[in-house]
Amino acid sequence: MQKRRLGKTGLQVTPVGFGGIPIQRLSEEDAVSLVRKAVELGINFIDTARGYTTSETRIGLALADGLRDQVYLASKSMARDADGFRREIETSLTNLRTDYLDLYQFHNIRNLETWEKVSGPGGALEAALKAKEEGLIRHIGVSGHLSDVLCEITKNEHLETIQVPFNPVETRPADKLLMLAQERDLGIIVMKPLAGGAIDRADLSLRWILQYPVSVAIPGMDSLKQLEENIAVGRDPRPLEPEEKRALSELTRKLGKDFCRRCEYCLPCPEGIDIPSMFLFEGYVQRYGLKDWATERYRASKVTASACVECGTCETRCPYNLPIRNKLKRVRELFEE
Ligand code: SF4
Ligand code: SF4
Repeated sequence: MQKRRLGKTGLQVTPVGFGGIPIQRLSEEDAVSLVRKAVELGINFIDTARGYTTSETRIGLALADGLRDQVYLASKSMARDADGFRREIETSLTNLRTDYLDLYQFHNIRNLETWEKVSGPGGALEAALKAKEEGLIRHIGVSGHLSDVLCEITKNEHLETIQVPFNPVETRPADKLLMLAQERDLGIIVMKPLAGGAIDRADLSLRWILQYPVSVAIPGMDSLKQLEENIAVGRDPRPLEPEEKRALSELTRKLGKDFCRRCEYCLPCPEGIDIPSMFLFEGYVQRYGLKDWATERYRASKVTASACVECGTCETRCPYNLPIRNKLKRVRELFEE
């Protein structure tokens, strides 16, 4: 795969990297084998997070046997204060069985108040700079879902990368963030390149993304088939043909604007509703006409949309400002009336 420069880090990364979320769903053996295969097939950028349960340890296990030096390893933490962030870095190093990380990121900065805490006195940035001085981490980045917030954050001189969702149904970063990142020489890491699994044409979506000035897209993968499909795009990220553009437009039109990206930031719901799954079932009916299939799964859920007491807590957390309460009412009508 032809490499791209990850902004001012200077790292040369493959345009398709490995997103570490879905390996949590696999057995340890399968997860380890998939990560190894990814590296053997040429992927040189792996992203994970403290918050992805077993992901770090599985990646650590996969790389322990001589593969560590073939990849750039990135992780991230939700800790916002210096002491907490330092502990998280140390835990990541232990889990990933390495004595340095190529990139460590402030995970999911959702607003400027949080960023002030991170970058202010006693904040996580202080710990990151110290860890960088000590060689525990080599570069510092940030991840978040909201383009406007990230645009502001790019002004910070210490940041080297921005991780953001960007795909044919989440196009906001293209308006300003990508331009600012270029101006400030920040590497762009594209998370959720398949809109959290909603886009089933990985090839089209990845090729669409890679026409923009981004460094690396990190699709999550949990099978060899997905890995091989993604790598094929990385090896030949050619622009879409007119017919492929039309197919992609049709796909995004079907998904619509009111679309849940399954980021799970709305959770936990105090009533125990698995909100993204409710919308996923709805999507299966609307997008694929699988009413019986989805109804069966909806009814098998421990708690369904009808348990919503409309407290609104989830809506304050959704980075896409989805009207979750109203959407849940529609889900209830769809499956229960
Ligand atoms: S509004 Fe409904 S779904 Fe959202 S947190 Fe409250 S009870 Fe849960
Ligand atoms: S409702 Fe919002 S926060 Fe919850 S998973 Fe969907 S997009 Fe994410």
